[in-house]
Amino acid sequence: MIWDTHAHLDDSQFNADREKVIERARQGEVTTIINIGASESTSRQSVNLAQKYPFIYATVGVHPHYAKDCSDETWARLSRLAQNPKVVAWGEIGLDYYRDLSPRDVQRKVFIRQLELADEMGLPVVIHDRDAHGDILEIIKKHTPQAGGVFHSYSGSWEMAKELLSLGFYLSFSGPLTFKNNRKTAEVAANVPEDRFVVETDCPYLTPEPYRGKRNEPLYAWQVLNKIAELKGLSPEETASLAVENSKRLFGITK
Ligand SMILES: [Zn+2]
Repeated sequence: MIWDTHAHLDDSQFNADREKVIERARQGEVTTIINIGASESTSRQSVNLAQKYPFIYATVGVHPHYAKDCSDETWARLSRLAQNPKVVAWGEIGLDYYRDLSPRDVQRKVFIRQLELADEMGLPVVIHDRDAHGDILEIIKKHTPQAGGVFHSYSGSWEMAKELLSLGFYLSFSGPLTFKNNRKTAEVAANVPEDRFVVETDCPYLTPEPYRGKRNEPLYAWQVLNKIAELKGLSPEETASLAVENSKRLFGITK
């Protein structure tokens, strides 16, 4: 069995068959799902899903795309929401210089604010980094939360990965690892220590091979897990049990 540590099951792409998608994951031995908040409303929806299903956990936080919409009231409401016992991390937060949907200075300010909030609440963070490696590294070095965190769908170099690992962070791999031309991420997955990686889908986005082009779902976390096993020269069973242990440690889930 494995976990999908980063899903967006609240996405409207699942409105027609959400129950079936969740059932397929469970039947296929994806036993636990962390549903990720990306705005105030999707954070609330994540907590609602986590209330409904014992094997779904939630995170709350604001993605850099929506940084420009945040105010002090946002932080007050999200902090209250984060007190729910099914909330296991703060995120996804970070910087996105690829789409630049919020001004970069606002993204940085909102990222730092949320790193502080996570730390106040004793929660690990889920970090989104798209084409912003340098600034992320600079900020995270100064504001490392005590409970650590994970770089989701890690896309940086092995050089940067070593710095993040030395700060205590985990690296999460997703669909792009399975793409033929992705040598950079393959190098990271091959070298990441056995106690520092987790598996995710980021569904409905980032669909792995051989399903590329279709909607992604938690069951396909297996494609990512199998690719990590292949790159590390471990059996899928061994790799799965490492990934689950790492996920439990990262999110402080003891069951
Ligand atoms: Zn995501």
